[in-house]
Amino acid sequence: MQHAKPTKNFQYSKTKSLIRFHWKDGNWDTGRLITDDTFKISYAATVLHYGQSAFEGLKAFRHADGSIHVFRPYENAKRMQRSCERLLMPRVDEELFVEAICRVVKDNHEYVPAFGQGAMYIRPFIFGSAATIGIAPSAEYEFVVLVMPVGDYYSGGTSGVNAVIWPDFDRAAPFGTGHVKAAGNYASDLLPSQKAKSNNYDIVLYLDAKTRTLIEEFGTSNFIAIDQDGNYISPKSPTILESITNDSLRRIAETSGMQVECRKVPLEELKNFREIGACGTAVVITPIANIDFQGESIWHSQVPAKRLLDIKATYQAIQNDEQEDIFSWLVKVL
Ligand SMILES: *Cc1c(COP(=O)(O)O)cnc(C)c1O
Repeated sequence: MQHAKPTKNFQYSKTKSLIRFHWKDGNWDTGRLITDDTFKISYAATVLHYGQSAFEGLKAFRHADGSIHVFRPYENAKRMQRSCERLLMPRVDEELFVEAICRVVKDNHEYVPAFGQGAMYIRPFIFGSAATIGIAPSAEYEFVVLVMPVGDYYSGGTSGVNAVIWPDFDRAAPFGTGHVKAAGNYASDLLPSQKAKSNNYDIVLYLDAKTRTLIEEFGTSNFIAIDQDGNYISPKSPTILESITNDSLRRIAETSGMQVECRKVPLEELKNFREIGACGTAVVITPIANIDFQGESIWHSQVPAKRLLDIKATYQAIQNDEQEDIFSWLVKVL
């Protein structure tokens, strides 16, 4: 069988279908697979004015025997519930969330790249669709899952990408929405990101907005590091979006005998790190080559990110069924 070629850099490409569920009067309907990827909506819909919307991102992999498996969908389901709670949107139960993913991945199975050639990226999202100009939660919602074949996100490969800390941009306010995948968080990261790109940086590293002394995370991925003693370090803060990739990498690190520390990470501590990476579903781990702050390099990689790339290799081997899934992370779809 021929499988779809993944697009570069997460360029959208239409597949056979997406799945849509509608919420009204307290209930989700049973959902429909839809081939038209456009949607008719009132100009007064809550999502268009007040950003009442949240999303998720996860992947499905084709194994050597042709079977298709989704990686940790129950974790994404729980995280979307937290987003919905914060943005006053109706809860999507874990069973419904995973059922939606299974149905749409099955229907689009021909778009799951061949074994080892990438993955199917799965994008569940939910938004307020009823006309509501007054500032109030929408009376109706759409829960949609779209899928598309993808390859690797950054062209940086294993040599690393350049990060910048801007003195005048924050990602997440204390007690704000940084800890959930609210659509609006990503609108406010567009400008700092674009400014980074036009200055030859690849990604933005954010500090905590209150004291600007602690490392938080990158615009769309978590910060992870290996210190001089070989320990796995990742910042803990109520304003960080808890990455499922980070959680998985930590478990792999622990299982391989490394010490894992999840704690406050002062900016001053950067110099103690041997390796730094950005992690998330899209990138898995991208090693960082350099971090600039106020026009100066405050961290530069001295050695290849060997430890991080070893953990990444184990993580990908589990996803591809080249290593036993001892954590039971994969859910078989087909
Ligand atoms: C989605 C996201 C991540 C990565 O989360 P994963 O579950 O690993 O994909 C990290 N940081 C932010 C801000 C995110 O939105």
